[in-house]
Amino acid sequence: MITVMKFGGTSVGSAEAIQRVANIIINTKGDKVVVASAMSGITNFLVGVVDNPTQDVDEVVKAFADKHIMAAEQMFDGEIMAEFRKEFDKRLASFREAIMSDPNDAYYKDLVTSQGERFSTLMLSFYLKKMGHESIALTAETAGIAAVGLPLSGSADLVATANGMTMKVRPLLSKGIIPVITGFYGIKDGAPLTFGRGGSDYSAAVVANALDADMLEIWTDVDGFMTADPRIIKDAIKIEEMTFGEAAELAYFGAKVLHPRTIEPVRIKRIPLKVRNSFRPEEPGTLIHSLRKKGKGLLKSVATKNDLAILTISSAEIAYKPEMVAQIINKIAENNIIIYSISTSLSTVAILLGNDDVTTVIRRLNEFSNGEIERIDVNNGVSLVCCVGDDLLSRCGVTGDIFTAVKDVGANVEMISEGASEVSLNFVVPMNMVMDVVASLHAKYISGDAQ
Ligand code: ASP
Ligand code: MG
Repeated sequence: MITVMKFGGTSVGSAEAIQRVANIIINTKGDKVVVASAMSGITNFLVGVVDNPTQDVDEVVKAFADKHIMAAEQMFDGEIMAEFRKEFDKRLASFREAIMSDPNDAYYKDLVTSQGERFSTLMLSFYLKKMGHESIALTAETAGIAAVGLPLSGSADLVATANGMTMKVRPLLSKGIIPVITGFYGIKDGAPLTFGRGGSDYSAAVVANALDADMLEIWTDVDGFMTADPRIIKDAIKIEEMTFGEAAELAYFGAKVLHPRTIEPVRIKRIPLKVRNSFRPEEPGTLIHSLRKKGKGLLKSVATKNDLAILTISSAEIAYKPEMVAQIINKIAENNIIIYSISTSLSTVAILLGNDDVTTVIRRLNEFSNGEIERIDVNNGVSLVCCVGDDLLSRCGVTGDIFTAVKDVGANVEMISEGASEVSLNFVVPMNMVMDVVASLHAKYISGDAQ
């Protein structure tokens, strides 16, 4: 039985946190493979370093080293500290080299921002050793995590990673060694390529896939997926189990529990996934798997995504100009901008995207020759509501029920996306109404008795 266990930034954010996590690892039965993020705050610090190239390198290295050494000193002394320092200093020298390498290299930012994981994993692995367990700190390089894709938005090459890990990691397990592997990045052409912010969850899923693990555990600082954001809905409760599809939709459209890309690598191998709280290991968390169990309510969860905008592009009879629709989407895609929803009519195309992306998209759309686009209207300050439930779309009258709850609070529905996924119904409302909408849906179809 192989369990891949992933710990996020707060779970390895201090000496106490690392010690807590080490106990969780030790108390888990069977073979264990650990994947960890950088200590909390470290990746943001590194992004700041890349964004302000004028900073003094010595100061940057010192601040970075101090934060880790301070935690290490609380855990190690004597011989084990000396051994730790030796490995730490080697990694610190590479860190300095990384910062001082060519900032014009397309993958410079990947190289620098992925440094934090090399240090958190080293500390965790050493602490396991101190507790009397054999462990080894591996990097994506030494574990064989292969990546493909563009700077800052890599994906794993699952086949190459499986080959790499079969050679480099599997043999460790049969010797009872606990590998502690860096999350967040893989290797493309010999250099780091990151998987996007928060990408360590995805790394762990990739590792689980590569090793054909029996279970993936994502240890974070919340109890699991909730029926709604507990900051908005006081009686929101934790969800015991859900399907891969439901979790993927929720993660993508708002719930910040899990990186949305975590699901796919485990779903394709049907590896169950648990979201658990490293600060409350006695809690069972949320189990995500392929079995479907009917819940009692109509909905399982309601998530929201704020700060979105609807861009409505008008052009006479655009429906008869599919190549123009394709060009619009291409331009948006070229800037790597995510489209959350899209709908068309005879003379308009409406696109839902992040508020922050509006200026870029309008600039790109202005590249069309004069008159091709007649008008662009922007409706910013909207929120997406994502309703997730079992077989939502095959139940009769669901849409009517959901929109009744929306109408009850007087919110106008600005855009709808139904049918794209069979477990979710998504729609857009003005941002100032979104809390009322969620409260109404939650009271009626989750905490209430309505079916
Ligand atoms: N340390 C990286 C980040 O903060 C990756 C992760 O935390 O998952 O984005
Ligand atoms: Mg993180």
